[in-house]
Amino acid sequence: MHELSIVEGVMNMVRESALQSNIKKVNKLKLVIGRLSMVLPDSMQFCFQALSQDEFFRDAVLEIEQREILIRCKKCEQQSVLEDIYCYICPGCGANEVEIIQGRELYLDYYEGEEN
Ligand SMILES: [Zn+2]
Repeated sequence: MHELSIVEGVMNMVRESALQSNIKKVNKLKLVIGRLSMVLPDSMQFCFQALSQDEFFRDAVLEIEQREILIRCKKCEQQSVLEDIYCYICPGCGANEVEIIQGRELYLDYYEGEEN
């Protein structure tokens, strides 16, 4: 499962960084996920709940910010939100020469914890 390995990776990263900063417990993590990354927030939450049983993560809240897919038309320069991820067409002029300017994000924005 895609989401499981992502959540595991994020948690390992947070744990490593927190230990270096003397943080004994994580309270909150925030992830930014673009719709094009094909990651489902519900699955992420489910995996996080399943993996966060130890003391370090037990009380942590996972916040997920989902970003829409934004495209910019190379012909008319219009920016729009892409509703159908299989249909890369400018709603303004109908051109199919568009570039994706947002929606591929998949990263940890920040985390908060309690120091020793
Ligand atoms: Zn256009």
